Amino acid sequence: MAEGKKKMKAVVLKEFHKPFVVEELPVPEPGPGEVLVKVMASGLCLTDVHIQEGVLKTVKVPYTPGHELAGIVVKLGEGVENIEIGQHMCGWIDVVCHTCMMCRMGRENLCLNRVRIGFERNGSHAEYVAIPAENVMPIGENIPWPSAAVIPDAVACMYNAIKVQGKVKAGDKLLLAGMGALGIQGVQIAKYLGAAVYASGRTEAKLELARKFGADGTVNTREQNLQEEISRLTGGELCDVAVDLIGTDSSIDELLRCVRPGGKVIAAAYAADTFTVNFQEVVIKEKEIIGIRGASPQALREAIGLVEKGVIDPYVCKTWKIDEVNEAINALRGFKNLARTAFTFETENSHNSSPTE
Ligand SMILES: [Zn+2]
Ligand SMILES: [Zn+2]
Repeated sequence: MAEGKKKMKAVVLKEFHKPFVVEELPVPEPGPGEVLVKVMASGLCLTDVHIQEGVLKTVKVPYTPGHELAGIVVKLGEGVENIEIGQHMCGWIDVVCHTCMMCRMGRENLCLNRVRIGFERNGSHAEYVAIPAENVMPIGENIPWPSAAVIPDAVACMYNAIKVQGKVKAGDKLLLAGMGALGIQGVQIAKYLGAAVYASGRTEAKLELARKFGADGTVNTREQNLQEEISRLTGGELCDVAVDLIGTDSSIDELLRCVRPGGKVIAAAYAADTFTVNFQEVVIKEKEIIGIRGASPQALREAIGLVEKGVIDPYVCKTWKIDEVNEAINALRGFKNLARTAFTFETENSHNSSPTE
């Protein structure tokens, strides 16, 4: 009854470069074709920091960020079929048009008309969010909520990078450069595919975590030369594929020198506007540089399947309450976390309970 008048807690970014605030807002009404989701966990991403800093020009304030959504469908908008109330889900981030050239090619993650949950429309750093029904990705009830929240971004992006674009297969040698929230999920995906995995980074604790998740070798680039170590670890053969999770102006060039002739470097991060590479590495040695952005719904479904089967255990190192939003964002900004973090929400506060005492 009077669902629209019910209140919820939501993180709001009112102005760029200012702290986030937590406000009581009306619970949104799902429009035609949409569902209302009771958010159970919402992953925190470095992009939330970039959004606060006004880097993403398509984001308009005031609004609620949060693009790594896991929760329970609690209400169906007009015309929604095939989804049951109570369905556990995570959310595909891109709301796409299905009619543009890229959608018709089956590359919906490159839709020319996309808007994104938590970017150009309100996201999941709130107790409830309304999203298009087609962005609901059903998940098994065995998946813990914080783990479910990081599948659409951290896990699915790495699946896209390693399996879909990198085409990594059993026996391949893979370098994941830059251990962090995405890299640690990548180690598990690559081990599942049967590859030998090498991880590089500058923080020993993150490299230790990579080894715990199965990395065959690690390189601490504070102390060791990456190219030399990769050559040593691979008996001089170098890697078949390297994934750049650093994104500086020189990181791609360094990774080109860590892959064999005909090898691939997957560009999965950008911290600088441009990068420089050596022509010889690309032209004479036929090496490829391939960009990745997010993941297609198909890649996301496959990633969910691997988590349901226990092949991948999405790693979340800490959970926060949304009242701690500024502390949580500042920890991200300072690169203080070992891996992904997520907001979690009270389980007893179901859609039937009274919103406030
Ligand atoms: Zn993200
Ligand atoms: Zn499209």
